[in-house]
This record gives sequence, C-alpha cells and structure tokens, in this order.
Amino acid sequence: VVEKETLGFQAEVKQLLHLMIHSLYSNKEIFLRELISNASDAADKLRFEAINNDALYGDDNELRIKVLFDKDAKTITISDNGIGMSRDEVISHLGTIAKSGTKEFFSKLSGDQQADAALIGQFGVGFYSAFIVADKVIVNTRRAGAFASEGVRWESGGEGEYSVESIEKPGRGTDVILHLRAGEEELLSSWKLKSIIRKYSDHISIPILMQKEEWDEEKKETVLKDEWETVNQASALWARSKNDITKEQYEEFYKHVSHDFQPPLTYTHNRVEGRSEYTQLLYVPTHAPFDLWDRNKRGGIKLYVRRVFIMDDAEQLMPTYLRFIKGVIDSNDLPLNVSREILQESRDVRLIREGSTKRVLGMLEELANSEEQENKDKYTTFWREFGQVLKEGIGEDATNKDRIAKLLRFASSKNDSADQNVSFADYVGRMKEGQTKIFYVTAESYNAARNSPHLEIFQKKGVEVLLLTDRVDEWMLSFLNEFDGKELVSVAKGDLDLGALEDEAEKKEHAETESSYKELVEKMKGALLDKAKDVRVTFRLTESPACLVADEHELSANLVRMLKAAGQ
Ligand code: ADP
Ligand code: MG
Repeated sequence: VVEKETLGFQAEVKQLLHLMIHSLYSNKEIFLRELISNASDAADKLRFEAINNDALYGDDNELRIKVLFDKDAKTITISDNGIGMSRDEVISHLGTIAKSGTKEFFSKLSGDQQADAALIGQFGVGFYSAFIVADKVIVNTRRAGAFASEGVRWESGGEGEYSVESIEKPGRGTDVILHLRAGEEELLSSWKLKSIIRKYSDHISIPILMQKEEWDEEKKETVLKDEWETVNQASALWARSKNDITKEQYEEFYKHVSHDFQPPLTYTHNRVEGRSEYTQLLYVPTHAPFDLWDRNKRGGIKLYVRRVFIMDDAEQLMPTYLRFIKGVIDSNDLPLNVSREILQESRDVRLIREGSTKRVLGMLEELANSEEQENKDKYTTFWREFGQVLKEGIGEDATNKDRIAKLLRFASSKNDSADQNVSFADYVGRMKEGQTKIFYVTAESYNAARNSPHLEIFQKKGVEVLLLTDRVDEWMLSFLNEFDGKELVSVAKGDLDLGALEDEAEKKEHAETESSYKELVEKMKGALLDKAKDVRVTFRLTESPACLVADEHELSANLVRMLKAAGQ
C-alpha cells in the first residue's frame, strides 16, 4: 500500500485554476458539461480497449454516466464506469496540463479578466472547471482491469496542491465528487441539474442517469428514489437524422469534440454512400487554436468505426492544410482493430480523406460565394483565422488547387487597407482593357508592399496589383503560375512587359530614351560589375530614381530575405 502523498500542481495548472475561478464565474454551469464530457471520453476509451480485451468489462458492460446530488452533504457526484485511471495517470492527468504550447499560452494572458476568459475558452478548461463551483474536489477512480484494492483517491481544494492515496473501490471507473462552495446550493436540485444536462450534454451517446424523485407527504418535500431515469437522448448525435438535430445540439457537440468553448463558425453533416460508406460531421472553428503552428499539435478528427470510438486526432483523415477542422468521421468499412499504420495505407481512408476534403472546400465555398452578409462576414473571419493555413493547400493538394485558388483573398493596391478581401476573380473582373496578366508584389509587410517603387507605373496606369505579405506566399506562388488562364506575374521580376497596356507612342518614346542613356548604362554596369548582373533603363518607376529587380527565374528579393532570416 502506497502512503498518502501530497503533491504540488504544475505552475500552469495553478494559474489556470486561479483565473478560471475568477473569470468564468458567469459561465459556471459548464463544469457539468466538462465533467460529463470526460466521463463520456472515458467510456469511449474503455470500449476501444475492450475490442482486444473483452474481459475489461467484467460483469458490467452497460456503459453509463450517473449524476447524483446530496442536499445535506452539499455534494454533486459525476460517476462513470469507463476506463478509470491508475495512480500514475491520476498524477499526470489531474496535476499537469499535457497540451503542448501551454507555457507560451499562459505567457499571453494579460490579467484583464474578460480578455483572459476568452483566451481560456480557446484553451479549453476541462476537469479544472470543477473548481468554479467547488472548493473541494475528490476523485475516486479505478482503472479497468485493476483490482478493487488498486483504487486511487485524488483530493484538492484547488489552491496549490493535491493529495493522492490508495483506496478500495468496488467498481471500475471514476467518481468525481464536488463539495460545493457556499452559495451554490441552487445546483442541488434534480430540475436544475437536468436542465443543465439537457442544454449542454444531450448529445452524449451513452445514457446519463439521474435518480427519480417522489413527493413525500410526511416530510413535505421531494425525496430521491432508488430508481434511475435517462436524462439525455443517449444516441450518437452524428448518427441521428439532420432534421432531428437543433443548431444548439450541433454546437454543444462541437464543444465536446473540440474542447473549444465558443460555437463553431459553420459545419457540414453528411452520410456518404458508395465506394466507401461513412458519416462525417465536420466543423470550422471560429478561432484558430493557440497551437495552430505547432508541428506536434493534435489534429481534430475523431475516428469511429460503426459507432465505436477508435482514436482522436486521426490525422490521415484530413490533409495537413485542413488541420484546423474538428469533428467526427464514422466509417462503416474499416475494421475495428484498425491501427495508425493501417490507416496510412487504407484505400477506405484515402476515399474518406478525399471526400471530406471536398466537403470542407464546399462548405467554405458556400460561405465565400454567399450573397448573405452573415455568411460573408463568416468567410472574412475564416480567412483571418485560417487563410494562411489554407494557402498551404496550393502546394499540398494538386487535385483541388483550382478550387483553393478561388478561395484565396489578398490585400490589393486598389484598397486603402491591409485587409485581405480581394479574390482572383475580383481582380480578373476589374482587369484593364488589354491586360492579360495578374500582377502582384511580395514583401515582408503590408507597408513595404504598398510603398514598393515597383508599384509606381501600375498606379499611374490604374492597373491593380495584389499585395502579398504572408510568410507562406512565396512558397505558395512557386506552385501557382496562373489563374483562369491568366499568368501571375511579379511586378518586381524581369523585364516588365506591360504588353497592350502600353500604346505605340509610349513604346517609341521608350526606345528613344533607352538609346540616349546607353552610355550611362554601360558605365554603371562597369562600376557595379560584381554587384549587379545587369543595369537597365526602366519605365516602371514614376517617382523613385532606381529600383532592384530579380531575374525572371531567380528567387525574389523577398524570398532571399526570408531564407537569410531563416539562417539558410
Ligand atoms: P481533456 O478532456 O481536454 O483531455 P480535461 O482537463 O478535461 O482535459 O481532462 C484531463 C485528463 O484527465 C483527460 O484527458 C483524461 O485523461 C483524464 N480524465 C478526466 N476525467 C476522467 C474520467 N472521468 N475518467 C478517466 N479519465 C479522466
Ligand atoms: Mg475534458
């Protein structure tokens, strides 16, 4: 028997606890959603492990969650018969935060409660939200397959530390017991708890049970009976018919699968039949996660096979450039014992990935092409949060390149702001008579692009230039040469050929000017011998005396600068 030990929380946990208790109070009901969500995950994990080890169920194979309360003790208990936790798991799961990037995330908190509350929402509060309503939390747990004597009790007041000790626990799974703070007594009611569960947790696929109530004539109050009733619909939400699912239910389900706090931007729900049969319920979040650029970041798709949870973060089901998509894919064809290795090679997985990619692009096109202001605004939000990631798709997904190109948005010399809201189609629709190319400039910032001397001649002629200033742009452009048959041309490269945009008189004048400066140009070439490859008279400038240009087939100055900055 291991002695009771007292351990300190990881520094970030302490910060999270402190912040949550102070800033999420107005959202306090979410504690129940979070604890039920964990109980449901624990049931999923047990079902998954039991695929290869049926004995884990013992004589208890009806997975369920119970919510109990005790008015006298002022406690609420959330009890599951899921996977449970070992002592080591208790310490690592309930004493630290496993998410990568946690330190950086906490360094961003400002101390302003409202701003921080929104940030914490994106981070996901999880188990620790119990302390919003409780000043003492006890977790009694026993890992599936372990002996009754191997139970573990975790206990904390949510300050700096917690204790762990061994206990006897008759059944498998986890009981989370909340000792409510003074003033939270209104939660001690069947009606109240049921209404919170129906609001936030109706989508949970296993039954959430509560005790029935009965009026006691003698005591003149309701008493709890030893009889249980199911409070939620208890069927997998994605398997229900679309018409039976409300927007709120879709949104709550999103929060469960994504660990996000805010509602999604949009979603798509389909049953796909044909060469591969599966159901997909895919969401676009409203905010980029704090770890969008973290290479080790978990993806967002949960894989189920015929309703049985198989794995989180099935990255094979979505291309990398759509890594921000959250949701569920439930396959009818994959074997239950599918592994990550099998996923990589599976034809079914390839079909699912291709089909899901098309769905996501379709969902984005719907927003992008909509006439409704609400959808337009949503696309603006989408582009701001995820546009840079979507651009990766130009290089990554040759099949859908044209569709992705239509979804791109840029800042433009036609506008007075850095807002990226001009599409290639907008540009093409505004092209001048005789213009056959799409002109762009790349730079490290909007201001640098806007004030580039290369733009002068275009301004003068009233020709629009797209201003590309995101880090991925240069890379993306190496995969994108044209749009709709119109060549994409950098205004900073090569011998700028404005074609029909120049009239005959101009051409003649240019030729004359060139020959009159011939001598000077030769002198300059000599002087700059080892610094410049060529010196030319240019007509692309109207105000600046000179500018540097890159050779048509060479790296652009901006890319060279980026490579240098990256130490190459
Ligand atoms: P998340 O659910 O996002 O992983 P939480 O803070 O909600 O984060 O929970 C932390 C971890 O604690 C979970 O990932 C899980 O491993 C463990 N855990 C929490 N509740 C339970 C439970 N009821 N049964 C088993 N494990 C649990
Ligand atoms: Mg959780």
